[in-house]
Formats: sequence, C-alpha cells, structure tokens
Amino acid sequence: MKYFASIALAASFLFAASAAAQEQPGFSAPIETQIQSVLPRMIAWRRDFHQNPELSYEEVRTARVVAAHLRSLRLEVRTGVAQTGVVGVLRGGRPGPVIALRADMDALPVTEEGDLPFRSRARGRYNGQDVGIMHACGHDTHMAVLMAAASVLAARREEIAGTIIFVFQPSEEGAPPGGLGGARRMLAENVFGDLQPEAMFGLHAWPGESGTITMVPGPFMAGSDRLDITVTGSQTHGAQPHAGIDPIVVSSQIVNALQTIPSRQMDAVRSPVIVTIGMIQGGVRYNIIPQTVEMQGTIRYLNPETREDLYTRIRRTVAETAAASGATAQVTITENAIPTVNPPALLSRARAAAVRALGEDRVRSGVPVMPAEDFAYFQQAVPGVFFFYGVNPPGVTTEEAAPNHNPRFFVHEPAMETALRAMLAVALDRVGAPA
Ligand SMILES: [Zn+2]
Ligand SMILES: [Zn+2]
Repeated sequence: MKYFASIALAASFLFAASAAAQEQPGFSAPIETQIQSVLPRMIAWRRDFHQNPELSYEEVRTARVVAAHLRSLRLEVRTGVAQTGVVGVLRGGRPGPVIALRADMDALPVTEEGDLPFRSRARGRYNGQDVGIMHACGHDTHMAVLMAAASVLAARREEIAGTIIFVFQPSEEGAPPGGLGGARRMLAENVFGDLQPEAMFGLHAWPGESGTITMVPGPFMAGSDRLDITVTGSQTHGAQPHAGIDPIVVSSQIVNALQTIPSRQMDAVRSPVIVTIGMIQGGVRYNIIPQTVEMQGTIRYLNPETREDLYTRIRRTVAETAAASGATAQVTITENAIPTVNPPALLSRARAAAVRALGEDRVRSGVPVMPAEDFAYFQQAVPGVFFFYGVNPPGVTTEEAAPNHNPRFFVHEPAMETALRAMLAVALDRVGAPA
C-alpha cells in the first residue's frame, strides 16, 4: 500500500513538474497588455532623465516629472519628502497588505563619454568644482521602471488587493557632510505616513547579462564607512629625524598595518572586509619632516555582526602603530551605509515570484558585492529585498562592461523590460489578483 502510494505520489509530482515546465512564464493577459503599452513610454522617460541628470538633493526637475506622472495616474502624491523625494500611494480596489517599491533619483558628478543621442551635457557644481553630471549609476532607469510599474498597476487598480507605496528617493549616492542620505532622511520624515508596509522591494542596474536578474540571499551589498585618520608627530629637519617624530613613516606603517585586519584578523569567509586608504596628505617640502599627516579611506564589510569588532581593531591598530614610534593618531569613523541584507525567507518568496514571471533561467543567484546601497536603511524599517538586473549590451561580457560610476556606464535598454517584469512580479505576488 505504502509502495503504491509513493509511486502515485511520485507520478503526480512528475506530472506537476512537467506541467510547470511547460507553463510559459509571464503575467495574466490584462497585465501583459498594460506592459506592452507602457514600454515605449518607459524608454522615453529614461532618455529624458538621462539627458537631464541632477545631483543628490538637487533632483528638482526630476521630482517634478515623477510627481506629474504619479498624479496623472490618480495616486495620492506627496512631494518634498527628504527635500526632493516623491511618494505616491496607490490604493487597490480590494483589501490586502501594504507594500513599498523604491527607485533612487540622483545622478553623479561624472562627465559622460560615448555617443548616445541622448547623452548628458549637463554641468553643475560639486564640492566647489565645475563638473559634468551623468546618470552613471543607472538611477534614470530605476525611475523609469518604477513609473512604468505604477502605470501598469494603476491601470489594474480595481483588482489590486492592498496598497502600494511608490518611493522615489533622492540622494542615494552618499550623504552630504554632516547630513543624512536620502533613505535615512525619508525615514526620518515618515516616508510611509500612517501605513506600515509588510515588504519593500528595490532594484539596481548592474553589469550582467541583459534579460536576467540576480537575487542573493543574506548579506548582498556591503556596509560602508568613511575613515579619517590624523597622525601627529613632531616636526623636525629632514636630516635630524631623531630630533622629532616622523608622521610620514608612521602613516606608511599604519597603511600597511590596516591591511592585516582583513587578511589576518577577520574571518575571510564569514566577515569579508576591505580597508582602503584613498587619500594621504602630509608635508610641504622635501627636507622637512612635517608635524601631521591626514589620511582618508573607506571601510567595507558584509557582516553587520562584526562591525563593532572591526572598528575596535582599526582603532587599536592605528593607535598602537602610532604609539610604537611615539606619535599619536586620531581616528574618526563616519557611517555611510549599513550592509544590504536580504532576509532569506522573503528573498526565496520573491525569487519564486520572479521565476514564475521570467522563467528559471533568467533568475540568477550571484554573489555579494562590496559597493553599498542605502536601501539597507529601509530594510531596517521594513523587511526588504534588493536585487540587480543585468544591463550588458549583447556580446559584451561582465568583465568588459564599464562599471557603475564610469563615464561609459551603459544600460542596454531592452533590459529595462526585464526589470519592469521583475518588479511587477514581486509586487503582484503580494497584492495581485488570485490566479
Ligand atoms: Zn551609484
Ligand atoms: Zn546606484
């Protein structure tokens, strides 16, 4: 009896598996119709944003375009959230949960290269310098994708079971000195109002095969902190180092000693860490040993649990390396972003939804990366999933593709349809009509 039951079970499993394999990935016919009709506009929005990029907290025109679109869909729209952020609320025709979908809005002080017909020629001021401005991180595409998702979902409003908050976030690319980045500031300004989302989703353009998305469970993008070190010695003649304390030699020792923290002190698998010194400055003349040296760097880490331990090791290494020579060193660590961590259960549900919409072969697993994303702060407030969509032009490998923030960063526009489908899949998984 048991034997036959298990055969029957195996047979029915096989049948179900082959039926699922034959099922075409995609959406219901009405949603498909909406997707097809919005695609040309999505590309047009993207090109408009690309040609008119704005730096962090200066996304004034961008916000106007976004808000006008959301209003045209009859969403409840709030502007000026975190200065230039825009929030749109779509209330479905049926009861259900609240979810939030996020796109970031800012461009970078990068002068675009290449010959796109809609290339950016924008210029502005950054850190007191005249700079070119470019959507070199693909945020133009994130906004266009989310606007398109809003169009599709608003058109099917009556069958939406729940509420969708569309969050257009300014200033993802880093906080201004002494201030908050866009995600933290939106949270501080009560971005969700009296709604409490049960899940939040965001995506990012990233070098990878177009037509695919990458979803990584657990730590996905690094925490990022700024490191400032001032080493103080004692100024003396270059020919009489014994009469002073040389902060340049001490700084060299500190730079090297810091590299032993990732390589000798942290668990290389559980707690990958990067310490990079990107700026070192000291001295005015070849034969004077100066009084001080300034250094700036960045700390990257994936495991939130090891952050305090890492800080302690950095402070100890700097202080005691300096002390060995009789110098002193002051260390300041400023939080830039915490790690983006995808809760495994939430991710696997989102992944299943993406597989149903895109097909198994289009949803990749991938590995964590060490750049940072301030979506991580939303994840502190709301369980959230962040994922990449591949943007390589056909025939270009990920190794050949220009990285984000490069003047030749390039998004293969057809990949945006995959991003749109993925966003709709994870949203409709929560608030869609029952199949
Ligand atoms: Zn970026
Ligand atoms: Zn970005």
